[in-house]
Amino acid sequence: MPASSSAVHEKKIKYNVFTIEECPACSQKTKRSFQAGDYVTKEGAKCAKCGNQTRISLIYAEPPPKT
Ligand SMILES: [Zn+2]
Repeated sequence: MPASSSAVHEKKIKYNVFTIEECPACSQKTKRSFQAGDYVTKEGAKCAKCGNQTRISLIYAEPPPKT
């Protein structure tokens, strides 16, 4: 993985930020748009598969798709 400092070359690109919520019971992962206040280990929505409480396991940014 490249150093984060390399991102300065792409400062004009507005990245989309996503949050991954993971279920501790069945490992179901749900990707959704990042919302203000999100942080890793924060409780997420109920699992769509088994109804357990999910937790945010990852927050990441990716470049917008080129159209
Ligand atoms: Zn689950």
